[in-house]
Amino acid sequence: MRDFYCQCGNTLFFRNTRCLQCDRRVGFAPGAGRMTALEPLGGGLWQVPGAGRIQGAVYRLCDNATRHAICNWLIPEATPHAQCQSCRLTRTLPDLDQPRHAELWGKLESAKRHLLFNLMQLGLPIVDRRQDPEAGLAFDFLADRDSTTEFTRPIAGQAPVNTGHANGVITINIAEADDVARARMREQMGEHYRTLLGHFRHEIGHYYWSRLVADGGPLAACRTLFGDDRADYAAALKRYYRDGAPGDWQARFITPYASAHPWEDWAETWAHYLHMRDTLETAVEFSLVTPPPWRHAADDFDALMHGWTQLAIGMNAVNRSMGLPDAYPFVISGPTHEKLAFIHCLVADHESAAA
Ligand SMILES: [Zn+2]
Ligand SMILES: [Zn+2]
Ligand SMILES: [Zn+2]
Repeated sequence: MRDFYCQCGNTLFFRNTRCLQCDRRVGFAPGAGRMTALEPLGGGLWQVPGAGRIQGAVYRLCDNATRHAICNWLIPEATPHAQCQSCRLTRTLPDLDQPRHAELWGKLESAKRHLLFNLMQLGLPIVDRRQDPEAGLAFDFLADRDSTTEFTRPIAGQAPVNTGHANGVITINIAEADDVARARMREQMGEHYRTLLGHFRHEIGHYYWSRLVADGGPLAACRTLFGDDRADYAAALKRYYRDGAPGDWQARFITPYASAHPWEDWAETWAHYLHMRDTLETAVEFSLVTPPPWRHAADDFDALMHGWTQLAIGMNAVNRSMGLPDAYPFVISGPTHEKLAFIHCLVADHESAAA
């Protein structure tokens, strides 16, 4: 994640709603890809002060900012929508009258904005269901368990909510936004890494498989690396949950779950690629790694991997000094390296077109 600067010179983070130095309201302008300070014009309108590329631009706040205080994305004055580009992608909300649902929904929207910002930076297409009613992107945030029991007791009459992707619709069980519930799931599944942002990155991987791979040129090459996706998906998952990953999974896959089916291998590897790109960018912003050549040469995957290895070793060592678990509990084998390189090439085509 990049860091940003207020018009007063103070550093702003992507989530900020107010500048702690000049005390102005701040927000993220998606079209401009930057955070900005705002001066109230009255009538719900806000103007960008000072010098800069979007000086004088007029925005409205997202409805989810004014009504729920959970969003900091801005809407250009001329845009007819009440919600920002990110919030409009949410199709179904959890019942906000239930305890803690509003708070957890806020966490989901925050992770979604982070994801979308990364996708925009990479020049990846974000097609919503207004543009493509059959396969456009939408999010359903749903609950199937009682939030007052840390999501252990089922809600009577409520069908189970499985986090997943189907034809552009990404469903996230809001229990994943609860730290206790997610930690319990991580233990139960024997995982070393389970985060809300990770879920978004995984599920959007399925979306991009459909958009970028499914009926395009890369499909044959993708099958060579990830396996044949025509294998029975339901049977594969059933087998995985019954038998677990093969003993040698680490030699071929980034996570045990990636071994379940070629689609899951793709989505896990895709999520991983997004982790790497975003974390490397953050590290460069804060001068934690030497600015690597890959930043302006999107096709140099080996340079990216070199920078990543250097950073991951460092992050793990820092965490151990703090008595924390490894920040990066993964091993990248030869086959995983090849799969990541494949995704890198696919993304680089979009990234260079967007630059
Ligand atoms: Zn400021
Ligand atoms: Zn919004
Ligand atoms: Zn999946």
